[in-house]
Amino acid sequence: MPSSKFLTDKVALVTGASRGLGKAIAVALAKEGASLALIARSTEVLQGTLDEIRALGSVAEPYALDVSDGAAVEAVVEKITAQFGHIDVLVNNAGVTRDGLLMRMSSEAWDTVINTNLKGAFNFTKPVGRQMVKQRSGRIINISSVIGLMGNAGQANYAASKAGLIGFSKSVAREFASRGITCNVVCPGFIETDMTKDLSEDLRKKLLEKIPLQRLGQPDDVAGVVSFLTSPAASYITGQILTVDGGMVM
Ligand code: NAP
Repeated sequence: MPSSKFLTDKVALVTGASRGLGKAIAVALAKEGASLALIARSTEVLQGTLDEIRALGSVAEPYALDVSDGAAVEAVVEKITAQFGHIDVLVNNAGVTRDGLLMRMSSEAWDTVINTNLKGAFNFTKPVGRQMVKQRSGRIINISSVIGLMGNAGQANYAASKAGLIGFSKSVAREFASRGITCNVVCPGFIETDMTKDLSEDLRKKLLEKIPLQRLGQPDDVAGVVSFLTSPAASYITGQILTVDGGMVM
């Protein structure tokens, strides 16, 4: 009997898959039958994700690189394509923060955030997109943030990178639409991961007051939406922003 999982025989590449949202996204796609190419800065940190996916009976391979290194990304995409044969889903999720008020923000803090969060997505979308254009199908999902929609004091670099991802995604959606490729953006609100674990109790309380659903999000809240965007049900959706934030921005 054919499998009812919609990603059976599909290959998904997820960046920043060692923990947090990337790990939850990779596992969610594996549950739908995808084989996974997982990216982080070292292969050791990917072990937990690998174990979880392999326990589901799915295939996963780890690749170590810095997403801001364009040449390394080109080489890894070539390697993944050779190993798996094709890439059907690309999730640009790797991201960092280097917070600080603008007047005190170093060029290094600016460059690190832009080069990881925004250029990293460009670095992967170009070679993976080239291949999706040839196969005339593909789903690209870029993980932005509500901060890219609203801005935030102390996060000018992060907000710029995440707003940049939105313009980037809409352009990619327009360029690739005629080839059967969709490109969408997911904007998470405050989700409980390593990135948000150092929020003070006071800030947490203030945040909760601004979230109509009265809780911080969980990685699975975001993973489910990414999974939906890779499904047949989402085949007519492109260039869109899905905000997953408990109603914070509406
Ligand atoms: P996290 O727990 O800090 O994980 C970040 C992931 O990105 C890790 O897998 C990390 O890999 C990887 N990464 C960072 N820099 C990299 C680089 N230069 N090259 C390769 N991999 C790199 O973060 P998260 O909370 O899951 O966030 C994931 C994404 O969602 C980010 O883009 C973030 O901006 C966005 N987001 C998060 C929230 C939230 O509330 N958590 C809200 C909105 C948007 P290593 O293990 O190698 O460090």
